[in-house]
Amino acid sequence: MSKPILGIIGGGQLGSMLAIAANKLEIKTIVFCDDVDAPAQNFSNEFIYGQYNDQAKINEFVNKVDIVTYEFENIPYETLDKINKIKPVLPKPSVNRIIQHRLAEKDFINKLNIRTTRYAYIEKKSELESLKDFLPGLLKTVTLGYDGKGQYPIKNLEDLDSLNIDYSNRYILEKLVNLKKEISIIITRFNDKKYEIYEPIENVHEDQILKHSKIPAEIDNKILEQSKLWATYIAEELKYVGTLCVEFFIDKNDNLYVNEIAPRVHNSGHLTINAYNVSQFENHVRAVCQLEQISLKKISDAKMVNIIGDQITIYRNKKLKDNEFFFDYLKKEIKSKRKMGHLTTLTS
Ligand code: ADP
Ligand code: MG
Repeated sequence: MSKPILGIIGGGQLGSMLAIAANKLEIKTIVFCDDVDAPAQNFSNEFIYGQYNDQAKINEFVNKVDIVTYEFENIPYETLDKINKIKPVLPKPSVNRIIQHRLAEKDFINKLNIRTTRYAYIEKKSELESLKDFLPGLLKTVTLGYDGKGQYPIKNLEDLDSLNIDYSNRYILEKLVNLKKEISIIITRFNDKKYEIYEPIENVHEDQILKHSKIPAEIDNKILEQSKLWATYIAEELKYVGTLCVEFFIDKNDNLYVNEIAPRVHNSGHLTINAYNVSQFENHVRAVCQLEQISLKKISDAKMVNIIGDQITIYRNKKLKDNEFFFDYLKKEIKSKRKMGHLTTLTS
């Protein structure tokens, strides 16, 4: 059978790294993105620029590919569903519909008897006033948030007046967890009970943006096993195909909570490119294109640092050691708080 052509919706760094992994497997990629400067066009075989509701552009894209996947979860469900009627979209659009909505996502996780933070759905300001129990907390938009965008820390009810909150959006109010650590699990599911799972990754955020990741995570065995088990329950329940990330909180009493699910490859898994025989990106391409499943083997311990904003200029001129791997996302414009690249260091 000839190899499929893989369509990737979204053209950021995750799209780039998917395209690089596909290329290694001799799979051609076409990236579709609403940003004319999308960096993934530097790595894909073809690039189509268009809005995510531009039917003519979507048709052009769909006609050229065999399988469609995506690098971020905020693509309108209607767009994915329409495409799926013509060419298979993996992970399934129904998965994306649950996960792109923070309330549906948390309800789904709790139904599996998996612990999340405490949360309440907020439709109007007056509802907040009866929720003192959830303070101090974070008010998060139910859709379209990332890297802490659309989140408001609320210590007490007086804060509500000084914050410029747009109540035409829907929110959840989440109780703050007294964090000891954050970890993530990356799992690639191929089919029923067939998956490859990476060891837990320990993550440090600064200003709600991921800054550092490392393996091994310094956690006890019980948490290690429980996080892996919960991630597999989630992937099985969703009948997921491809790479999925589950973000966890560990509180000061060693309770484990699922924070959120990312139905895609994930920033914390960039170190898998250098630390494992098969990266999260290659595994995603293998799963969605129905290629061979290869058993994961760790090559080395590793740590990764995200290069944010104008720090990138330092790294562009840095002399690298043999165990350092620098990735420049080739974004046209440097902006503060923008992820511009990352550096992975192999540590064993
Ligand atoms: P995003 O979609 O922007 O990644 P998250 O819900 O994952 O949003 O929040 C980003 C980061 O903010 C988390 O990784 C964590 O560091 C912090 N955070 C979010 N929610 C909570 C919470 N309920 N308690 C403590 N820290 C939180
Ligand atoms: Mg997150």
